[in-house]
Amino acid sequence: MEDSYKAKGLRKSLVKTVREKGISDERILDSLMKIPRHFFFDRAFLEHAYQDKAFPIGEGQTISQPYTVAFQTEKLDIKPGDKVLEIGTGSGYQACVLMELGAEVHTIEYNKVLFDRTRKFLPKMGYKPYFYQGDGSQGLPEKAPYDKILVTAGAPSIPKKLVEQLKIGGKLIIPVGNNEMQKMILITKVSANKLSKKEFNYFSFVPLLGADGWKP
Ligand code: SAM
Repeated sequence: MEDSYKAKGLRKSLVKTVREKGISDERILDSLMKIPRHFFFDRAFLEHAYQDKAFPIGEGQTISQPYTVAFQTEKLDIKPGDKVLEIGTGSGYQACVLMELGAEVHTIEYNKVLFDRTRKFLPKMGYKPYFYQGDGSQGLPEKAPYDKILVTAGAPSIPKKLVEQLKIGGKLIIPVGNNEMQKMILITKVSANKLSKKEFNYFSFVPLLGADGWKP
């Protein structure tokens, strides 16, 4: 794994693109600048790594588009020390961004092959979140409650258990819709029985599987 002037240059223009699309949190832009996204790709795909696009990572899954990673992260308003549950570890790139912001990251992946691969790979890059394998549509009750929950796969509806596992004042960001398009939704748990809901644009994610997701 080698960073290079070329990769840094490409990364800089990626950050510029993400900024132009509306991301203004400098801490997030700094983390995109810092994390060598091409380490998550085969060598031949250096240029692809720095396009603002999702890309296949095997097992029919993708590494999310950098703008999408930045958008979901920005809406969660991550503070250092926040306990964050990420649903859909995938390549681990999003987990690295959360860790750069000082979060304590718990990340759960449904697919065993990706779980094994990323659990071995991420520590080699110096990132050590807590890894779990299982159905994240049920959250991760043993480590709840969370300050923030980030779902990186498209859900048919908002899983109740995720809302239950939020702290008071906690936030959940989740794309909800059909298999092609999902609306980004931000839920804030204002009090034990009061939620506030904000809706944003449409995105396109791979499906959230599992008991409160789509059937495989
Ligand atoms: N956050 C990832 C990254 O940075 O590369 C992007 C992941 S990809 C868009 C979505 C991931 O969610 C896939 O790896 C998929 O296997 C996983 N997934 C789907 N349903 C899941 C579930 N019920 N629990 C946990 N992970 C799930």
